[in-house]
Amino acid sequence: MKLTISNLSKTYPNGTRALDNVSIEIQTGMFGLLGPNGAGKSTLMRTIATLQMPDSGSIQLNELNVLTQKKEVRQILGYLPQEFGVYPKISAESLLDHLAVLKGITHKGTRKELVKALLEKTNLYHVRKKRLGGFSGGMKQRFGIAQALLTRPKLIIVDEPTAGLDPAERNRFHNLLSELGEEAIVILSTHIVDDVKELCTDMAIINHGKILMQGNPLAAISEVEGRVWKKRIHKSKLKEYRNNYQLISEKLIAGQPEIHVLSDENPGEGFLSTEADLEDVYFSYIHKSQAATSPVSA
Ligand code: ADP
Repeated sequence: MKLTISNLSKTYPNGTRALDNVSIEIQTGMFGLLGPNGAGKSTLMRTIATLQMPDSGSIQLNELNVLTQKKEVRQILGYLPQEFGVYPKISAESLLDHLAVLKGITHKGTRKELVKALLEKTNLYHVRKKRLGGFSGGMKQRFGIAQALLTRPKLIIVDEPTAGLDPAERNRFHNLLSELGEEAIVILSTHIVDDVKELCTDMAIINHGKILMQGNPLAAISEVEGRVWKKRIHKSKLKEYRNNYQLISEKLIAGQPEIHVLSDENPGEGFLSTEADLEDVYFSYIHKSQAATSPVSA
């Protein structure tokens, strides 16, 4: 499978340019679309999922024109939106069965087998009779996957899936996704760098509606390798360091800030060389794009 997105642009009626000339090529496997809130991810996901139209550009899925052949695309599409709304009073098994009917699986025996297989695959068979309203966040997400798989999709779109999942639920969800990536295109849209690091063989970073990079996460990391420097500082010094250095990230470790800077040379001042990770890659692109669009703050 190959999904080719070319020169896609979208400006909402209020003037927000959500997509700005987006071009990406995506092959079978797990693809991560990484960007902060408001970057344009959902707009892009909904457009690929045939739920909204761009102002210009094209999307091709193998021989299908996604923007005009919506019906054909929907037959091979599995879409798991940010919030999968469920009917709280109905059981997982009944809703899945009902959704299967809507998808055109009318033969009762076939449907029964399919529903059973999907509930088993998503590890929900033991709670199949339970009301969906009583499901945890992770169970709802897995139910979302089960419904997305009703039609053996070739293209699976998962929008911000792991927000609110506990580590064990997230793990289970990751395993399920990576299994799907073996035979379909799975696009995972997220602001969580670790989700992409753990799962994806290809990725893009988006901000302000623009694609800032596309490539293999490990290759992207090796590009900044040797240029990332870290330092533990006192909280009170954070502002001073922000002013004097190009920080790519700040995180608290045991309550104390650790800052990372990107520099070809050792910045001195007690900075230590550190192994680069995907977060360094991500923040270096995001900061570059912020600097390009906002005035320098004093
Ligand atoms: P993300 O999924 O990365 O958070 P979105 O695609 O939801 O980004 O949003 C991109 C930008 O478009 C944001 O500035 C958002 O506020 C804006 N936006 C999204 N949907 C609409 C809409 N229906 N009308 C107006 N602006 C919107």
